[in-house]
Amino acid sequence: MLSIKDLHINFGTLEVLKGIDLNIAKGKVIVVIGPSGSGKTTLLRCLNILETPSKGVLEINNQSIDFSQKVLRKDISAIRRQTGMVFQTYNLFPHLTALENVLEGPVTVQKRNKRDVHPEAVELLRKVGLGDKVDYYPYQLSGGQQQRVGIARALAMNPEVMLFDEPTSSLDPELVGEVLQVMKQLAQEGMTMVIVTHEMNFAREVADEVLFMDGGHILERGHPEEVFSYSKNERARQFLNLLN
Ligand code: ADP
Repeated sequence: MLSIKDLHINFGTLEVLKGIDLNIAKGKVIVVIGPSGSGKTTLLRCLNILETPSKGVLEINNQSIDFSQKVLRKDISAIRRQTGMVFQTYNLFPHLTALENVLEGPVTVQKRNKRDVHPEAVELLRKVGLGDKVDYYPYQLSGGQQQRVGIARALAMNPEVMLFDEPTSSLDPELVGEVLQVMKQLAQEGMTMVIVTHEMNFAREVADEVLFMDGGHILERGHPEEVFSYSKNERARQFLNLLN
C-alpha cells in the first residue's frame, strides 16, 4: 500500500531524514514514536508531500514519485489524493461550520457536486459523534470536537491512508479519549493509518507496529509489546524509560 525507499530531506544544511525505508501493508496501523526533533512530523509531512524530500522514492497505492528526478505537479496531486492528514492544531476554517469544513475538500478540490457530498458529510460527522453539531462553527466546539471534525474532513476525501500528526497533543487531558476512540474505531474498520503520537497506551492497544525514530533514522520497528517491553535498542529503551 505504502512504500518509502531511502528517503532523505534537508532543511538548508540540516539533514532531518537520513535514509528512511518503510513498507506498510493495507489496513495496518503504524505508530511513530521518538524524541522531539527526531524527524517524526517531517516523515509524516513527506508522505503527503507537504515537505519535498531531497531524495528517495515514495509509492502509495501504485502512485509513485522519485524525488531524485524532477517532481511533477500532477504526480504530487496523485499522491496527495491517496492521503488524508489530521493536524495537531486541527486547522479548520474558522468561518465555516463543521459541515462546511467537511464539504470543502470534496467540493473545491475534487469538484464534486455539493448535493451529492452533503449526505456523505453528514454521515461522517455522525460517525465521529458530531451528528448534532453539523451547523456549529469551530469556536462553538471543544478542542476534541474540533479535532473530530478534522478527522471527518480528512475522511471526506476518501483517502487510502490516514496520517495523524500528534492529533491529541493540543487537547486538554479529558478530551483526549474521545479523539482516540474515533481513531480506534477507524483502525478496527481497516483504515491504513500512520500516527505520530505520545499516547503509549493507545499505541499498545491499537498499533500493529511501532516505529522508534531518532536522529532522522528509524532505529527500531516491531510489535508494540516487543518495542515497549523488550526493545533491543538502547536509545529506544532510554526514551521509553523517560516516559514511565
Ligand atoms: P519531531 O516531529 O520528531 O519532533 P520534526 O520532524 O518536527 O521532529 O523536526 C525534526 C528536525 O527538523 C528539527 O530539528 C526541526 O527543527 C527541523 N525542521 C522541521 N521542519 C523544518 C522546516 N520547515 N525548516 C527547517 N527546519 C525544520
